[in-house]
Amino acid sequence: MFLENKKIVVMGVANSKSIAWGCAKALKAQGATLIYTYQNERMEKQLAKLASPEDLLLECDVASDESIRRAFATIEARFGQIDGLVHAIAYSKKEELGGNISDVSRDGYALAQDISSYSLLAVAKAAKPLLKAGSGVVTLTYMGSERAIPNYNVMGIAKAALEASVRYLAVEFGKVGVHVNAISAGAIKTLAVSGVDGYKGLIKESDSRTVDGEGVTIDEIGEVAAFLVSPLSAGVVGDVIYVDKGVHLT
Ligand code: NAD
Repeated sequence: MFLENKKIVVMGVANSKSIAWGCAKALKAQGATLIYTYQNERMEKQLAKLASPEDLLLECDVASDESIRRAFATIEARFGQIDGLVHAIAYSKKEELGGNISDVSRDGYALAQDISSYSLLAVAKAAKPLLKAGSGVVTLTYMGSERAIPNYNVMGIAKAALEASVRYLAVEFGKVGVHVNAISAGAIKTLAVSGVDGYKGLIKESDSRTVDGEGVTIDEIGEVAAFLVSPLSAGVVGDVIYVDKGVHLT
């Protein structure tokens, strides 16, 4: 168990379909102690059904600097230092995830960037003093950052910014022995994806392009996240690792 005695922060479990939940299961299987953060009370109720009694659950709305500050102050008070962080958070207004990209509103663009890209920088800043050397930070991205995926629109632009943020953060955090990377996951039916116009077609198309016709699972993504937060991946720096069962190849 390569994460024994390691404390890992997992941000973004909304329910049992969440990619963050796949990550949490894999981290637990490797012996990690988990600290979950949730967006609001509604998410807390869902998370409480999944988490174990020994896990710490904290509110952290990444739209609020104060909420981020409070969450990491509590983590510091309780644990002192941490050994890794999984950021699996994104949001866009539904009306921006369809139609023409040139119709995107100024507000909608800014909101998607704020929650889906800037939040990684804000959270990383709060976590930096707590992260031990050898820790890993992992975020979740999607191929829509590089290719024009129908209706993914403003989120594709936010993911491109997120991936660039990973590279800049990786250089900064590398100096204190923390490696930062992204997983580019294949399409999976989750709450977040259901906001994209025609998402069922997107998932069907994605599944049909995997090497065996079966879509990637949250468990498969979680296994890679466990590796990427651990010191085993200290040599992987500022990278975007595809975990999509080959969709990006074809
Ligand atoms: P999800 O809906 O289960 O998770 C999204 C999470 O973001 C939720 O827990 C939600 O509470 C959280 N969130 C949104 N706004 C927030 C805020 N202001 N403060 C704190 N948390 C907030 O969906 P998911 O698909 O598991 O998404 C996780 C990550 O994976 C996202 O970054 C998503 O873009 C990425 N991703 C998803 C897919 C996919 O097909 N599902 C593919 C590639 C990447």
